[in-house]
Amino acid sequence: MKFNVTILGCNGPYPSAGGACSSYLLEAGDSKILIDAGSGSLSNLMKLMEPDKLDSIILSHLHWDHITDIPVLYYNLLIKNKGGLFDGKIDVYMPGSPRGIASLIEGFEFFNVHILSEETRFNVNGCNFSFERMTHPVECYAVKAEFNDRKFVYSGDTTLNDELPIFAYGCNLLLADAAFLENQLKADSPHMSSAQCASIAKKAMAEVLALTHQNPYTKISDYENEAREIFPNSLSVKIMEKMEI
Ligand SMILES: [Zn+2]
Ligand SMILES: [Zn+2]
Repeated sequence: MKFNVTILGCNGPYPSAGGACSSYLLEAGDSKILIDAGSGSLSNLMKLMEPDKLDSIILSHLHWDHITDIPVLYYNLLIKNKGGLFDGKIDVYMPGSPRGIASLIEGFEFFNVHILSEETRFNVNGCNFSFERMTHPVECYAVKAEFNDRKFVYSGDTTLNDELPIFAYGCNLLLADAAFLENQLKADSPHMSSAQCASIAKKAMAEVLALTHQNPYTKISDYENEAREIFPNSLSVKIMEKMEI
């Protein structure tokens, strides 16, 4: 049974020319789950499937570079609904804060919004999801998907913390927020460096580390080279790349 993730966007906090911000299509068997929907990602999703066929949407947090294509995805559903082509609701799992942005998304009529906590567990056709609170300026959750003894973990946006390696322990693929190189990291940076992601992957005994949230002005080979010093099985993700888990 297939279990893979396709990178619909891997930039942050804004897209590169022709690129897109954080968004990942997870396929577990016949289920399709969209994780984050940054700017430019809907266009890439449309290359693969119709958005109304998504089983669920998970938003790690409500920063713009992870959610700006949600309102236009809603337009896709709205137009289909008016044409008699769609008449359902898509489950959306997301944090309840910041309140103003959360209530905006709750107002979209074709979404069935569930507010995330660390206790949230749900299952989409045999794929089990769980969550861990990360350290970021807004409420953000790392996402774990387990399917047929394979384990995928996405860090969301976060600074280095002690919970992530425990949460990600033994995962087959760790997709992590490597927004910075070590020499770009400041004391108040809201993300990890590539080296910090590699240290997490090592502690977690992950099989593969995939580096995302790439800054458009940083060379992706620099992220990869920095991580490989600590965790050899590291790679910088590329847009539209499909990774087996
Ligand atoms: Zn963020
Ligand atoms: Zn971000």
